Amino acid sequence: MILDLIYPRRCPVCGGVLPFGESGACPDCAGELSFVAQPACMGCGKELGQSGPGRFSQEEYCPDCLRCRRSFSGGIALLNYNDAARKVMAGLKYKNQREYADFLAAEMTKRHGRQILRLGADALVPVPVHKRRRRERGYNQAELLAKGLSRRLPIPVKRLLLRVEYTEAQKKLGYEARQKNEERAFRAVHAARIGRALLVDDIYTTGATAEACTKALLSAGVSQVFLLNMAVGISRR
Ligand SMILES: [Zn+2]
Ligand SMILES: [Zn+2]
Repeated sequence: MILDLIYPRRCPVCGGVLPFGESGACPDCAGELSFVAQPACMGCGKELGQSGPGRFSQEEYCPDCLRCRRSFSGGIALLNYNDAARKVMAGLKYKNQREYADFLAAEMTKRHGRQILRLGADALVPVPVHKRRRRERGYNQAELLAKGLSRRLPIPVKRLLLRVEYTEAQKKLGYEARQKNEERAFRAVHAARIGRALLVDDIYTTGATAEACTKALLSAGVSQVFLLNMAVGISRR
């Protein structure tokens, strides 16, 4: 509590200082965050949106997961990646707002904790950043998220993945090229005794990173991988 006086808590969306003793988003921003609602994709966890009359009633997967086969067994996502979520992630990744990881981990646990526990996972595995980027930033945001989850759920954090290649921003590349790059970028270490792993990341967009990490874990002997993502791109339907 004394720390709250020295370092006042901030709203993770607008960055405004919160009244003493409060946490989470401020009243102005709380309504801007859009938490993923059911039905969600059985693959990546993306919200599937309103079904047209009879049109998507049988559908359990988003168009992207239907189009490309995924190696992960399923996923849970917390926020739809709208402007408010973008601000939270930008603060966490680029503005040294490490405490936003705690807000996200708390919301994930509150909303999906029981579902996560039912998966019976052996480890929370953060998606790694390259050591060069870690040095620049001072931390890996996925690791902060995994630690925040591990403080609330009885699942240990295991750093089973290494990012061995430094990949520049890949936004301009198509999915296939990006996928190839990503698959060279990760390597798993000491994974053989892990049955089920939860891969933790901040944002899920194309799924290329999640897929590459999953393949690395599976090839190192992990039996199943599920995703926990704090934000997920909104389906282009
Ligand atoms: Zn705010
Ligand atoms: Zn999906």
